[in-house]
Amino acid sequence: MTIAAPSPPPDIRSLTEADLEARLRQLDEKPYRAKQVLDWLYKQRVASWDAMTNLPKALREKLAAAFSLRPLELVRRQGARDTTQKFLWKLTDGAMIESVLIPANPSLYGEASDRHTLCISTQVGCAYGCRFCASGLDGWKRNLKPEEILDQVLAVERWNDSQPDAAETPAERLINNLVIMGMGEPMANYDNLMRALRTLNAPWGVGIGARKITISTSGVVPRIKQLADEPEQFRLAISLHGATDEVRDKIMPVNRKYPLKDLTEACDYYVEKKGRMITLEYILLDGINDDPAIHAEPLIELAQRLQAKVNLIPYNKVEGLPWERPQEERCIRFADTLREKDVTTTLRLEKGHDIDAACGQLRLKTEKELATNSAS
Ligand code: SAH
Ligand code: SF4
Repeated sequence: MTIAAPSPPPDIRSLTEADLEARLRQLDEKPYRAKQVLDWLYKQRVASWDAMTNLPKALREKLAAAFSLRPLELVRRQGARDTTQKFLWKLTDGAMIESVLIPANPSLYGEASDRHTLCISTQVGCAYGCRFCASGLDGWKRNLKPEEILDQVLAVERWNDSQPDAAETPAERLINNLVIMGMGEPMANYDNLMRALRTLNAPWGVGIGARKITISTSGVVPRIKQLADEPEQFRLAISLHGATDEVRDKIMPVNRKYPLKDLTEACDYYVEKKGRMITLEYILLDGINDDPAIHAEPLIELAQRLQAKVNLIPYNKVEGLPWERPQEERCIRFADTLREKDVTTTLRLEKGHDIDAACGQLRLKTEKELATNSAS
């Protein structure tokens, strides 16, 4: 007979405030201890039990026996401190994920008052296989757990706190805007994502406003409707990239399952239920979806129908894939065509694409390097 190895205890950050209070009661502890623990985890963002210095040692030992608390491990960081920075994390099973820290950039999902936006991952790899994307190149490995999703925020802040020029007691948090646009399809890991987002949003947790959290999806229709029915006002962005089935079928396999008609209906439902504007993301791919005479019109129609704004993103080249970004003038002309029809449009043309490249690429590069190193 084989005896299964005991499974590790749950990570404490997978619990809600109510869950934690209930567990502490079972451990014969006073409920007010929950507040102290949550404060250490989410306000002080400590990464060990020993750092929770106002808790009696016996309680810390009980907590350590009942729960895991394993922070993300920083493997690699790219980018200067006042620019966009990429963080590559190793998970406890050795898998790697990325987060991207973007300084205040009002034209990109944020407002002038935003301090930093963090782009976070929800899966290791991605099963959706959009033809242009680095995240899906090696397929899907696994879903991130709630604590792995939310620790990306805490770990970046911990890293920032550890820098020599960090303030002694930070007056405000580094990150006050989140975009769920890293590796993976967030809607395919819906329950874990919601659990993480509720902790990131809660006053007892990280305290980031729901309106400061944008979830991006390639178009998983049933989950868009489910999100519309949630009580929170999270923002929604649709990775459209084509406003006809012809274009979307070519570059996004998800469109075969949920064609534009279904996607548009789900967006209608979301807008109606939430009374909130959605964003349509549109990567400009040379020769595929960037002809103002052909591709702008259906996009204008869709944006007008949904009263959505459009975020145009010139494609970031992915090594090994055949797609190219159009010339800058062509991108500008496409944007102007939308603006002439009063569609609110942003076009990102900033420099520094090597760092700024979409999520999934640093992981891919590092995994390739590690494979080469271990082979030699
Ligand atoms: N799976 C979700 C969220 C992660 S992808 C989604 O698809 O929406 C985040 C965004 O980056 C998506 O709009 C995606 O289409 C875009 N993206 C992927 N690869 C890109 C690249 N090489 N250049 C520019 N944007 C890219
Ligand atoms: Fe997955 Fe989004 Fe990349 Fe498509 S664009 S493969 S859904 S991460």
